Amino acid sequence: MSVGIYIHYPFCERLCFYCNFYKEGYKTEKESFFLKNIIKEIKIKREKYQNQKIDSIFVGGGSPSMAKIDTLSKIINELDRNFLITNNCEISIESNPNELLNLKKNIEIKKIGFNRISIGVQSYSAKGLNFFNRNYNTKQVKKAFLNCQKAGFENINCDFIIGAYKEEKKDIQSTLNFIKQYNPAHLSFYLFEYKKKKIEEEEEEFNYNNTKEKLISMGYNQYEISNFSIDGFECQHNLKYWKNKPYLAFGPGASQYFNGYDTKNRENLLEYAQLINENQEPIKEKTKWDKKKRALIMGLRLRQGIKENDFFEYKKKLEELKKLNLLSYNNGYYQIKEEKILLTNEIIGYLI
Ligand code: SF4
Repeated sequence: MSVGIYIHYPFCERLCFYCNFYKEGYKTEKESFFLKNIIKEIKIKREKYQNQKIDSIFVGGGSPSMAKIDTLSKIINELDRNFLITNNCEISIESNPNELLNLKKNIEIKKIGFNRISIGVQSYSAKGLNFFNRNYNTKQVKKAFLNCQKAGFENINCDFIIGAYKEEKKDIQSTLNFIKQYNPAHLSFYLFEYKKKKIEEEEEEFNYNNTKEKLISMGYNQYEISNFSIDGFECQHNLKYWKNKPYLAFGPGASQYFNGYDTKNRENLLEYAQLINENQEPIKEKTKWDKKKRALIMGLRLRQGIKENDFFEYKKKLEELKKLNLLSYNNGYYQIKEEKILLTNEIIGYLI
């Protein structure tokens, strides 16, 4: 079976108030220290997870697009030396629009072997970018996107957040206009998590459903609650998460799933490096999963849903949810009903 790899690059130019990932402010010395240690971590894990065939690599963070080309290149080369990377491996990098304005750098990123780029746009309205305190404007988003295309990236994702502030029709419309004009191969629309009042929940539901319908009418396929793509451009790495497949992870704060265990690396660069220098995996916590339960939690996020034959022990509850009009059943699969997607967490909570 092929396995994915996640790399966590933990530095950002600016730390966003809404972000829960492990990150630190950038310094050149910190990046060199991180590089030295992640290279060692790759070697340590090669011993433990020998001969794994790798068909997806995702470099996330943090803001890996601000890393030096030399850093990115050394990490990918080290993975190549230590694991069996398949020819058609999807290799993605997360990026901020303001770090994609230099075409030469984008071309160099492509040359390293990255074939998918994920741009954290968040919003295509001035009001939205202001709310998220982002250090770029919509003009720069456009330039970043076009630069990626010029550099030869065909597989481009744009991330957006909805439901974070009082969005007006024109804010959502400007995001949709951008999508219609530039047609990114893949889109992620995340709902902003905070305790909302009833009226805000209703507005969010309206905006979510409205956006979803417009995207579908533009030819996008919603294959997961928050993810849409043009056919053939589904994110292979993220599909591993939702299909409960194994992936290895490297870097401080990185999360891994392998052999039924979730592990999380230390979220502190110094503690992470200390364990690596003792020749140990830099793990902070390890959780054993009931594989079935995990597959159910992840699988219901997919629009395809879960296969009846794989979940007989949940049949009674699944049927109850179907009677309550929360699930539908098609060709041997249970899926959350289109109009009940925003209740996904509650439905999963009931099942487990
Ligand atoms: S740039 Fe991205 S990773 Fe960094 S703090 Fe902001 S949201 Fe988090």
